[in-house]
Amino acid sequence: MGLSELTLSPRLVKLTPRSGISIRRTLPHRSIRTIGAWCFVDHYGPTDQANAMSVAAHPHTGLQTVSWLFSGEIQHRDSLGTIQIIKPGELNLMTSGLGIAHSELSVNKDIQLHGVQLWVVLPEKDRNIAPAFAHHSDLPTFDLDSMTVRLIMGELLGHESSAKTFTPLVGAELLFRDKSKVELSLNKDFEYGFLIDSGSVEINGELVAEGNLHYIPPGSEVVSISASKNSRIMLLGGLRFEEPIVMWWNFIGRSHDEIVEMRNAWESGSQRFANFKDQLDGRIPAPEMPNIRLTPRSNSVLFQR
Ligand code: MN
Repeated sequence: MGLSELTLSPRLVKLTPRSGISIRRTLPHRSIRTIGAWCFVDHYGPTDQANAMSVAAHPHTGLQTVSWLFSGEIQHRDSLGTIQIIKPGELNLMTSGLGIAHSELSVNKDIQLHGVQLWVVLPEKDRNIAPAFAHHSDLPTFDLDSMTVRLIMGELLGHESSAKTFTPLVGAELLFRDKSKVELSLNKDFEYGFLIDSGSVEINGELVAEGNLHYIPPGSEVVSISASKNSRIMLLGGLRFEEPIVMWWNFIGRSHDEIVEMRNAWESGSQRFANFKDQLDGRIPAPEMPNIRLTPRSNSVLFQR
């Protein structure tokens, strides 16, 4: 069966066992594991809940975390010594490489928290690089008819984000100032996902409900988006990521044994994930390994309906 357009519904999960906010997770999905190198899509809020984001120190490997807010403020701290508040329209981009630890905390309780937390898997040649953190507050913003584009990563319509990428990909927020229909040019080598945050939105004529992620396989040169006033959509795209990977907890590796090694490093307090100070003053222990061996999986999507 070939690749076809597909709408993914989110699963509802808790952010952490302690912090109760509910997250809508559309990737990984049983039908589609990755879109380009985008491998994790969490969508949350708007919520008034105090301490909406209160995630103590935890590790990452083999990925980039892409933090993007529609409203609210979060303070990020990490094992490189970074302390960085993120606000709407700004990007916090953390490249774990071989290993990093970080924590995230809502800091302005008067503003509803609303946004997305995304992961990008790093390719084999870069996945063990030194960790890095970058904050971008000057991302390209431009209009296409009545749609305003905030370009987060990659290139779109002749604009380019300065955020560091390791595989060909694009990420952007699309905001409709008025009800309209837009024909957006695509890179036909890319596959795409359109996550509907809010609004009444049709992608290529198909109504896609809020919270759903509409997948478009490689080969399209244009997408038609009809949206009501104030609709907000996240566009995620990229070259299909073909390397088999193992995603477990906050780690991305290539084998079961590698994941065990990463888990042991975190549990033993190894310098692979250096200590740092924050207001939460704690660390999240890794879950137990499952009783089965983790198997590397490629993005050979089960495109069955
Ligand atoms: Mn994290």
